[in-house]
Amino acid sequence: MSDHYDLIIRNGTLIDGVRTPRYAGDVGIKDGRIAKLGKLDGARADSEIDAGGKIVAPGFIDSHTHDDRMLTLAPEMTPKLSQGVTTVIAGNCGISLAPLVHAEPPSPLDLIDDGNAYHFKSFAEFMQARDAVPAAINAAFLVGHTTLRVAAMDNLERAATPAETARMAQMSEEAMTAGAIGLSTGTYYPPAAAASTEEIIAVAKPLARHGGRYVTHMRHEDEEIIPAMEEAFRIGREAGVPVIISHHKVVGKANFGRSVETLALLQKAQAMQPVCIDCYPYVASSTMLRADRIASASRIIVTWSKPLPQYTGRDLVDVAKEMGVSQEEAVARLRPAGGIYFSMEEADVQRILKFEDTMVGSDGLPHDIKPHPRLWGTFPRVLGHYARDVGLFPLETAVYKMTGLTAEKFGLENRGRLAPGCFADITIFDAATIGDAATFTEPTAQAHGIETVIVGGVPAWHAGKATGARTGKVLRGGR
Ligand SMILES: [Zn+2]
Repeated sequence: MSDHYDLIIRNGTLIDGVRTPRYAGDVGIKDGRIAKLGKLDGARADSEIDAGGKIVAPGFIDSHTHDDRMLTLAPEMTPKLSQGVTTVIAGNCGISLAPLVHAEPPSPLDLIDDGNAYHFKSFAEFMQARDAVPAAINAAFLVGHTTLRVAAMDNLERAATPAETARMAQMSEEAMTAGAIGLSTGTYYPPAAAASTEEIIAVAKPLARHGGRYVTHMRHEDEEIIPAMEEAFRIGREAGVPVIISHHKVVGKANFGRSVETLALLQKAQAMQPVCIDCYPYVASSTMLRADRIASASRIIVTWSKPLPQYTGRDLVDVAKEMGVSQEEAVARLRPAGGIYFSMEEADVQRILKFEDTMVGSDGLPHDIKPHPRLWGTFPRVLGHYARDVGLFPLETAVYKMTGLTAEKFGLENRGRLAPGCFADITIFDAATIGDAATFTEPTAQAHGIETVIVGGVPAWHAGKATGARTGKVLRGGR
């Protein structure tokens, strides 16, 4: 008697997402799940894919995104699907679309706004709206502390009162009940900078009961990075939840090389509590345009500007020259706006990427007019440039950092691994040609080497194109 499957991937080289050395095999898929791995010579299927000469890996999980609105605005999710990404974690850096009704929320909430994005009274309502528009890939959501502050407070330039804190904790509880997988903060940004550590601990307290995690864009990534890390660890300990430090980096020339120190501190903390980090593979960062970042960057590129869109894609230095003003004044005229900041050292980026518990996350900004290339290039860049060309780690480790490790840290059950019973989210790629094409001048160039991307057992990407399948699911957390 021979087995029958919906789909068989034949003759591939399997990399399972948990660092098992690669091996030759077939994958049998049935009812959206991986049914069998190994030799399936006698088995038949409704359709087959020949993966001869190619790597068959779990679909990549983007641990750090701002895809909250993109998922319904452009549910084909091409920037991610074209990289082999099958699941995104959204709601990072304190920024979530819910629960907040606001026509003109302050920066950085405007990074994902179009003037009409913040219209969800509850997190449950937001989750239902995502459910109603299936995307090509899966998504899980964090609730953002900055969003809660804007919803609960009339003055953001101070710590929350006990009543406001209680209100935020209640909204955090509601979000977790509705399926959020954790709380994110962005105390680096003005609307949350005045929040006290105690305020954040109180808002994070409801997470423990739901198995949630605390994810943070810390107050500082420069001179003050050590106290910022200590604060994050304390919040995790006192709320009784795992800590994830977002896009870990050390910023500014004066701090080059200090990842030696920060990673040692991380390792020390890991002996006491669950802590991990994510990282994008570039020496430039990107966020809202801020004058206080001019000094620490060797170059700044404007990614968008509401009042002066004609300067999009230009270097700030040139814009200021053309305006005949200082860079600070140019920033004031361009805002609200976004920027790319060259402010890291390559050795730090490599050291952080290589760290045992570093996940790969793009931090891509999908609504920027001229975005940072990390939006379209992150995953193939780690696999091609860093694993194959630089030799920073074996391909098995690179895949682990974007699959098995990420699923474990974010509690995504039965994902991120090739194993019987796991959901059939699978990426087939060519190890010899995989690579990023997006650059700072051509930031939306499509990566190469991704052959086929399967989401929930159905091919969503094949031969350089989307198939049109929309089998992505909203993933809910909770115990
Ligand atoms: Zn951030």
